[in-house]
Amino acid sequence: MSFSPLLRSSYILKAVKENGYTQPTPIQEKVIPLVLDRRDILAQAQTGSGKSASFVLPILELWSATRGEGKAKIKALILTPTRELTLQVAQTFETMGRNLPKTPKVVSLIGGEGISDQIYAIQQGCDILVATSGRFLDVLRKKQMNLSHLEFFVLDEADKMLDLGFAEELELILESIPEKRQNLLFSATYPPKMEMIAAKITQNPIHITIESEMPTVQSIQQRVIEVNPENRGPLLRHLLSTEKWEQVLVFMANKRASDNIAAKFRKYGFSADSFNGDLLQEDRTYVLEQFKAKKIRILFATDIAARGLDIDDITCVINFDLPRSPADYIHRIGRTGRAGKSGLAISFIGYEERDHFRLIEKRSSIKLPREQIEGFELVGTPPPRVKGPDPIKGKGKSKKDKARELAAKNAKNSGNQ
Ligand code: AMP
Repeated sequence: MSFSPLLRSSYILKAVKENGYTQPTPIQEKVIPLVLDRRDILAQAQTGSGKSASFVLPILELWSATRGEGKAKIKALILTPTRELTLQVAQTFETMGRNLPKTPKVVSLIGGEGISDQIYAIQQGCDILVATSGRFLDVLRKKQMNLSHLEFFVLDEADKMLDLGFAEELELILESIPEKRQNLLFSATYPPKMEMIAAKITQNPIHITIESEMPTVQSIQQRVIEVNPENRGPLLRHLLSTEKWEQVLVFMANKRASDNIAAKFRKYGFSADSFNGDLLQEDRTYVLEQFKAKKIRILFATDIAARGLDIDDITCVINFDLPRSPADYIHRIGRTGRAGKSGLAISFIGYEERDHFRLIEKRSSIKLPREQIEGFELVGTPPPRVKGPDPIKGKGKSKKDKARELAAKNAKNSGNQ
């Protein structure tokens, strides 16, 4: 695919070509049409995915189509976590906009440079403002810029801003810009705090994730241990006592199971807690901070709660209960082995899970040896394979009923640990 079906402006297409972009990256393919359609967006995107151009190009196109005569007005505000990114994004706007009949005036605001020069630059005329949030607020306090014409509000690498106390500054920023605007939020991860911020900023956003950004799992050692369901708890305690894992994330099928097992492990003297959708937002944040600070060693989590967890120091991921889908398996084990470190992922399976795990292996193109641990060997006989009767239309269980039964069964199994 080329850029020409995505963008109308021949001036921008020319700049894209001159800049050596021959075809859009996956994120650009998805994001550009949506921005042109004036939608709010929440995109999960890493550095290197081409995310900057995915908002720069359509903003330029919309901006240039409505740029009237007269003095420049600030139409777009892009906030980034670092000076480098600020300059890089400003540069992309300039490069991609250079062939337009009226070139955009781009101003970047970063710390470490004289603030009065920057204010002067804005007053000389600014269409697009790119800034680190700290410096933006400094300038805002001087009450020297008019933001009432703002149409686009972009947060780039938003999760990195969280570390910089951005959540606290956000109120001030939102108060200073028009309520009616288009919001584009790009973040590599969506920890709970990020989701809160996203909800505050965007309206009915379209969520975008790029499949190819699935974690690469080559650096993760994957193991499968066969164990009877009722022995999973004792086996996990045995492994925790014998292995030197520092931080362990254990996936459970549901909220109740994660709470029950965490309480049980605490009774056994382990530093453990649960992380699930039932927790209040502030408790989620607290538990996560404790885990990050290594004050909690074992976190029992559900899939939903763990999505987007931004922790890159997990020694080991345990699938206490198997994930439903192969995609979830990859997401779960991708929580370990991050940031170039090697990781370990262990799945517990009993007779009942054999077929399901085979399917996960097939879909993920892996084949793993089965292990058993001394003292916790799989006992009993596999249940006979019975082919159920053909379903009778209208009399079979609904999908919902089946899901309920499965959840109840899992809760029972996990509650027994
Ligand atoms: P980003 O993820 O926005 O930081 O972009 C990463 C790098 O990819 C930058 O150097 C861009 O100039 C470059 N880039 C972005 N989109 C494309 C594209 N469609 N074709 C080639 N390079 C691109």
